[in-house]
Amino acid sequence: MAPSASPTWVEIDLNALAHNVKAIRACLPNQTALFAVVKANAYGHGAVEVARAALAAGAAGLCVARVEEGVALRQAGIEAPVWVLGWISPEEAPACARARLTPTVNTLEQAEALASANTGPPLPVHVKVDTGLSRYGLLPDEVVPFVRALRQFPQLYLEGLWTHMARADEADLTPTRQQLARFRAVHQQLQAEGLAPPLCHVAASAATLRPDLEEARFQAVRVGIALYGLYPSDEVDWPISLQPVMNWKARVARVRTLPPGTPVSYGGTFVTSQPTRVALVPVGYGDGYPRALSNRGQVLIGGRRCPVVGRVCMDSFVVKVDQVPAAREGDEVVLIGQQGHESITAEELARQLDTINYEVVTRIMARVPRVYVNG
Ligand SMILES: *Cc1c(COP(=O)(O)O)cnc(C)c1O
Repeated sequence: MAPSASPTWVEIDLNALAHNVKAIRACLPNQTALFAVVKANAYGHGAVEVARAALAAGAAGLCVARVEEGVALRQAGIEAPVWVLGWISPEEAPACARARLTPTVNTLEQAEALASANTGPPLPVHVKVDTGLSRYGLLPDEVVPFVRALRQFPQLYLEGLWTHMARADEADLTPTRQQLARFRAVHQQLQAEGLAPPLCHVAASAATLRPDLEEARFQAVRVGIALYGLYPSDEVDWPISLQPVMNWKARVARVRTLPPGTPVSYGGTFVTSQPTRVALVPVGYGDGYPRALSNRGQVLIGGRRCPVVGRVCMDSFVVKVDQVPAAREGDEVVLIGQQGHESITAEELARQLDTINYEVVTRIMARVPRVYVNG
């Protein structure tokens, strides 16, 4: 039986998630903490449930991109450390301090807003070094003066120094080693002045999993994509076996045979050339199933691959089921995941869409219910 009454749902296998957390932990030295990255609704998997399961399986804390995401975790009763990795506006400082989130500060304006908002014990804050991604963070030269200036705020406590790698998922580690060298140089300058914070964190999934990057592990790692059983790229032989956590499913809404010469879906971009058995799949781009898969995508029904015919609409699309004579209304459709001996991976969809597995899972909309299994 389908675990949801909805025409489409995402199944999240919490057992697979726990397996992944433990497998990643097993690659790490004991003293390196694993922080689970649950931004963007845990890459589409459901932030609160994933956070709880990751913490239960051995994660020491959580990372989000925005204050609001951290506040939602607190409202769900999660008390673990939550690091906010993205830019925070001074207007968000009160909510950030109230929820005891750990922001990354980049300007004295942010520091001031946080300091005056914080009525509790000193709020831990982190400082990010931009070592080569050119996104958030201070340039190496700016860090020491900024950290000196932070001392004027006794309401803040500098807990962490961190950076983020641009190319740790590539075969050639030269640029990554350059970024690490820049990071280490900044850390040494801080140490020389007695200003170095207790925590450094640098590695996301790619650097965490690579045996040739042990020097990137420091006191904590920030792992996202690997938690979800997906690999950061296909350029590297990843040393551990991860289990995909997400399965995207639907029910067949209706099956019928169209006569020859029948156009299918908006624009009539597919026209039957013979009597054709088709099934209606009640999923569309309004659920995050990309319209770019019109006349290109495949789904699994009865353990067979069935091609999308015609355009993907907002709430539905049509597939050919000639090869599945037994297909009936109510049958399970798999959009991502396994059925019988066949499977459709996030990577397969990513290749078809010229994107990455991260985007494929993250883009699935909130209206698709998440169903948690094996928890
Ligand atoms: C998203 C993100 C991560 C996690 O990256 P993965 O490749 O998914 O492990 C880590 N650090 C920062 C700053 C991020 O934005």
